[in-house]
Amino acid sequence: MSILKIARMGHPVLRMKCEPIDPKKITGPEVQRLIRDMFETMAEYNGVGLAAPQVHQPVQLAVAGGEADEEGGPRFRIIINPEITVLDENDKLGMFEGCLSLPGLNGWVERPASIQVKAYNQKGEQEEFTLEGYPAIVMQHECDHLQGVLYVDRIEDLTRFAFEEEAGRYLDLDEDDNEDDTGDTDDTEET
Ligand code: ZN
Repeated sequence: MSILKIARMGHPVLRMKCEPIDPKKITGPEVQRLIRDMFETMAEYNGVGLAAPQVHQPVQLAVAGGEADEEGGPRFRIIINPEITVLDENDKLGMFEGCLSLPGLNGWVERPASIQVKAYNQKGEQEEFTLEGYPAIVMQHECDHLQGVLYVDRIEDLTRFAFEEEAGRYLDLDEDDNEDDTGDTDDTEET
């Protein structure tokens, strides 16, 4: 396994529309190695998600966390060629987002709070599931990466885009403290 170099904002790979992966190749060595390396890279940088273009691979593959497993530990989903359907356009959730490709920065973004996701998993099986709250936000952030979109594109009020330290000190990170499954509400995580 290897820790991969992370592309930072300004690198053109982050603005590419990523190519779908042939479902027949998901269980092959190339895709499986990319999945393992992305997990190792995400763990190294304490990310809650990571998309393939962030490691210079413009393909539709991402890891998304924010959910808890049966024992209350973190659960990460691998999604390939995802399609997202918003379940309620009027139900929005806002939070300060961070991104491993924009180190040290946080910005306030509002997104739909509940979504349905259709994607292939790491075994090449098609899955469909719904997500609500924080995991839905993480998933949308990762899926945006696969379309060349960064969270900064979705910030409506640029006075709420700041360095982490200043955001924590002056912009009150807790003012929209939502309840999520991980119990991790008091800080932003990078995806
Ligand atoms: Zn990101």
